[in-house]
Amino acid sequence: MKTLFIFFIFLTGLCQAQESPALTGEIIDLTYSFSEESVYWVTAKEFELEEVAKGKTEKGYYYSANNFSTAEHGGTHIDAPIHFAENAQSVEEIPLEKLVGAAVKIDVSDKALNNPDYLISIEDLKTWEKEQGQIPLNSIVLLQTGFGKYYPDKQKYLGTTNRGPEAVKELHFPGLAPEAARWLVEERKISSVGIDTPSIDYGQSQEFGAHVALMTNNVPAFENVANLDQLPATGFQVIALPMKIKGGSGGPLRIIAIK
Ligand SMILES: [Zn+2]
Repeated sequence: MKTLFIFFIFLTGLCQAQESPALTGEIIDLTYSFSEESVYWVTAKEFELEEVAKGKTEKGYYYSANNFSTAEHGGTHIDAPIHFAENAQSVEEIPLEKLVGAAVKIDVSDKALNNPDYLISIEDLKTWEKEQGQIPLNSIVLLQTGFGKYYPDKQKYLGTTNRGPEAVKELHFPGLAPEAARWLVEERKISSVGIDTPSIDYGQSQEFGAHVALMTNNVPAFENVANLDQLPATGFQVIALPMKIKGGSGGPLRIIAIK
């Protein structure tokens, strides 16, 4: 009997040990839902959902299923390094360490909301560091321009409601200056970067210098990131897991923060 009792205690102990610890912190969803409203690059195929089944089957159970199609680059998504750098990592090759970890948020919305062609400068990054301390190595850096509040209003968010190659020159939204991208890569060795606009380069960019600076160094970018206004400047974690497309140059991204 005594042995049995001890065994019971042992079992109870085991059960307690297996209880998973509660997640501490508030979870913030940084992802927009995919729908016909999702914002895509003006030349990219937009999101489509095709109903395959919806309703009660002959056997009595309910069944719902759809097909979807989408460009890699639209809605909340990731740019894999191979998007702008030959032989760089494709989306399934990005190390998870670059997609999960400590993050900072740099808010330039007071400047960018007054100028849709605003370029986030090295000066902006250094000004932030004066208040918040140096951006730690291997950080995920999120850039808040304030343009997220316009999503999915294409006129305000993209600068145009037109589509096709001719509409590219009508794009107006802020982005990261190429030299500031280079500075983040070389001087702060960041893991990845995200922004609340359709592209890490600004709308009027011709050379996509921020993309090139980041991606030739295997630094991925998150675009159309939602809800950055709900994050503090420091002291939070990001989990950014894209659809794992073999050979993909990017793809739909589910990104969350824990603060
Ligand atoms: Zn993209």
